[in-house]
Amino acid sequence: AKTGGRGRFCFFSAGMNDVVQQRLVLETALRQAMGTAQMQLHYQPQIDMASGRLHGVEALARWTDPRLGEIEPARFIPLAEDCGLIADLGRWALREACRQLAQWRSDGLTVPSVSVNLSPTSFHDRELARTIAQTLAQHALAPQDLTLELTESVLLDANPSTLQTIAEVRALGVRMSMDDFGTGYSSLSYLRRLPVDEIKLDRSFVADLESDGAARALSNAILEIGRSLKLTVVAEGVETAAQDSLLRAQGYAVAQGYLVARPMAGDALGGWLGRMAGR
Ligand code: C2E
Ligand code: CA
Ligand code: CA
Ligand code: CA
Repeated sequence: AKTGGRGRFCFFSAGMNDVVQQRLVLETALRQAMGTAQMQLHYQPQIDMASGRLHGVEALARWTDPRLGEIEPARFIPLAEDCGLIADLGRWALREACRQLAQWRSDGLTVPSVSVNLSPTSFHDRELARTIAQTLAQHALAPQDLTLELTESVLLDANPSTLQTIAEVRALGVRMSMDDFGTGYSSLSYLRRLPVDEIKLDRSFVADLESDGAARALSNAILEIGRSLKLTVVAEGVETAAQDSLLRAQGYAVAQGYLVARPMAGDALGGWLGRMAGR
């Protein structure tokens, strides 16, 4: 029994080593990917439901490692947070999204704005507002061309510079959007204290719209909250025509999801807009 126990222990610790080693491999690969073509932004259209026109696009990071293949944001974003790379990734995404928006416009495309996801750590950066102002100026963009998507965890963050940084960024005229709205639990008080310009109904509500009366009631309540605070309300993860018409009936203004388009490379957006216009 003793030997068996020992054997199990050895097996267990070998397993642990594997996990640690895998993580180290991934972390090293991520460090090397930053600033290379392995790391890209893809863009998912957001549609104004009334006019059918493009409201904006959300930038989503994509990482393809030459050996490991495509790695999902759900894996590498938390990793970047843990190993101190997330602030670099955030600054890179801001610059890259602005560069791309300016490129689309110089190609003659009408893209009203780009949304960039930022982690709580990015708001610890005292220089964030200045970096954003410089980046916008460099590409001759207006502050309203940029939206920053943050999650409630940003607002629950105890770091004292967070609120100040958000205020500085908003003072520039950059829009703020509350992502995954309805999934945290301090949303209402925080929204009142710290105005954002937009809320995004989490896609878990949208997924259950057809089957669950409670999800419909909540999406309706969230829309009313948004309206009464004069916020743009975006529904995320719209996959079916039935979801789309339910959201329309409730009065949602903007939809984003696979029904309209999946995230795509920046240079594919022009073709997509052309096909949209031809429909
Ligand atoms: P998110 O910000 O909530 O982004 C929306 C996610 O839903 C994206 O997944 C998008 O591809 C996916 N999605 C869009 N429409 C649909 C749909 O109709 N159905 C379904 N099932 N999914 C849909 P993605 O790109 O895998 O990103 C996952 C998460 O990773 C993001 O969630 C965001 O929290 C994070 N993330 C992605 N890029 C960045 C980034 O550049 N910086 C930071 N900090 N986080 C990022
Ligand atoms: Ca987002
Ligand atoms: Ca979201
Ligand atoms: Ca999310």
